[in-house]
Amino acid sequence: MADPDWMKDIRALVGKEYGRVYGWDPVNAPMARQWAELMGLDNPAYADGSAIPAAMLQVWCMEGPQLNHYPPGSTTENPYEALKLIEAHGYPSVVAVNSELEFDRPLNAGERLYYTTRLDAIGEEKATALGTGFFVTLVMTYFSQGDAAAGRAEDGRVGQLLFRVFKFKPANPVKPVADGVTAPAVPKILRPAPGISDDTRFFWEGAKEGKLLIQRCKSCGTLRHPPGPSCPQCHSFEWDTLQASGRGTVYSFVVMHYPEVPPFEHPNPIGLIELEEGTRLIAQLIGVKPGEVAVGQAVQVEFHTFDTAAGPMALPQFRPVQSVG
Ligand code: ZN
Repeated sequence: MADPDWMKDIRALVGKEYGRVYGWDPVNAPMARQWAELMGLDNPAYADGSAIPAAMLQVWCMEGPQLNHYPPGSTTENPYEALKLIEAHGYPSVVAVNSELEFDRPLNAGERLYYTTRLDAIGEEKATALGTGFFVTLVMTYFSQGDAAAGRAEDGRVGQLLFRVFKFKPANPVKPVADGVTAPAVPKILRPAPGISDDTRFFWEGAKEGKLLIQRCKSCGTLRHPPGPSCPQCHSFEWDTLQASGRGTVYSFVVMHYPEVPPFEHPNPIGLIELEEGTRLIAQLIGVKPGEVAVGQAVQVEFHTFDTAAGPMALPQFRPVQSVG
């Protein structure tokens, strides 16, 4: 699509470099250990502080829970100004498209990092299933500050993060008609079909018959979900299935507000359900107002059939029930 007139000024920003954003704390072992615990990494080198996980690169310069609360000396420019400007022309929604991290070398405790941001590219206007808009690419380059005592006199590049978003006008916005109630989903757009592999086929075939199946190791009996080829406990490839009761509790949840993606209704409550058998799965919550979902709430599975691009498919969803005892 040809650029609208107003895009010229925004496009002129491409290539602009935004100033430094510093990290609050130097690279340090306690944060690295806690991050590794949260990510479920059991590498002993992260626990004893002898190595810093490379994938933490972005973490070191994060602002924390307060928006735009950066350490003194950080830039006051807004590296996302192009997104704000596009938004002002009627493109309210944003979805992250892809993110690529590059690491130049391992980091050591004590290093102080900062990053600079470059507005790398703005694609031409594109029409997609989500809506019409622009792909915007930002590149954050991370540096370690020079430290003569550590044998690094100059600042040096340590890695890079490419972050691409799609800033768009939704194709079919679904407007709330009353508090907590949404208009019916747009009928023509089908639900996406799940990718089904030899490892996951049993789950969907069970759903078709109204059964919630959990994969079980034939060798040690450990239950696992999501399905996979081998047992994480004993590494056996032999497995069968157990039919779950369908009873569980809400272990955690999110309520999806934006972007509004047809045919889903919005807000869209999605639960991490802990089944009474012990495994957890992610499923849509039904029969509950998004503001009333609660952790620990008892739920029961229901199977509903939806039209998808791959034909009709049964999908497990969970509805709150009165908890017993
Ligand atoms: Zn096993």
